[in-house]
Amino acid sequence: MQPIGFTTGITRKFKQSFAKSINLIAKTKATSIEISARTLRELRKLYALINSDRFYGVEKNLAQFHYISFHSPWSGFVFNFQNLDLLERINEIANKINAKNIVFHPDIIRDCRFYNYIDERASFENMGKGKDDYNDAKSLEQLHESYGNKLVLDLQHLWETFSLDDGQKFITETREYISEIHVSGYNESSIHCLFSDSINKKEILDLLKKCPKKPIILKGAPNSLNIDELNNELELILEYTA
Ligand SMILES: [Zn+2]
Repeated sequence: MQPIGFTTGITRKFKQSFAKSINLIAKTKATSIEISARTLRELRKLYALINSDRFYGVEKNLAQFHYISFHSPWSGFVFNFQNLDLLERINEIANKINAKNIVFHPDIIRDCRFYNYIDERASFENMGKGKDDYNDAKSLEQLHESYGNKLVLDLQHLWETFSLDDGQKFITETREYISEIHVSGYNESSIHCLFSDSINKKEILDLLKKCPKKPIILKGAPNSLNIDELNNELELILEYTA
């Protein structure tokens, strides 16, 4: 079955630690999880966790997921010649949490030596409408052809950038190297809301139906950390992927 679950980013507004977020998601019906470090500060916290005794219990919870992904930092910094050694730390974390995929935002890579540090687990995410680069199939295809890395497809980014026809065409053109699919939705108060709270469900589903059966990560911010609310979001998507 297609693994489906949450990013730890859903608990960010509730200020949960990584350990608590992972343990919470483990209590839902999720079969996949993305550990997401937004900033370098969050990366340091995650690094401290995996090297502490607290990681023992977290690791046991992680073991229940069929698919684990790691989203590397994207906020408040760029990858340049001064910090490429961060990639060693990122790979180390990915090894420790047993991540099959490492997600990068391609728009923050400013030094081409970056590509020497990454391995076959690296995937680049399609960017949203607000970004100048890497929201179109052509530029992502160029990255894939140059480095062989895969694509994490964010359906909400696709929806806000293209018409439905063009979004579906994007998926047809990139489907062979899509590694993971991010699902959320849009409403008046959020550009990454719960799918179940969104006003563009039909379009997101029309895009999802075009996608290969790759692991799904739900990234819409929930209204609470209630297990039933989270399971409801999961079940809604499961209905359409069964
Ligand atoms: Zn991302």
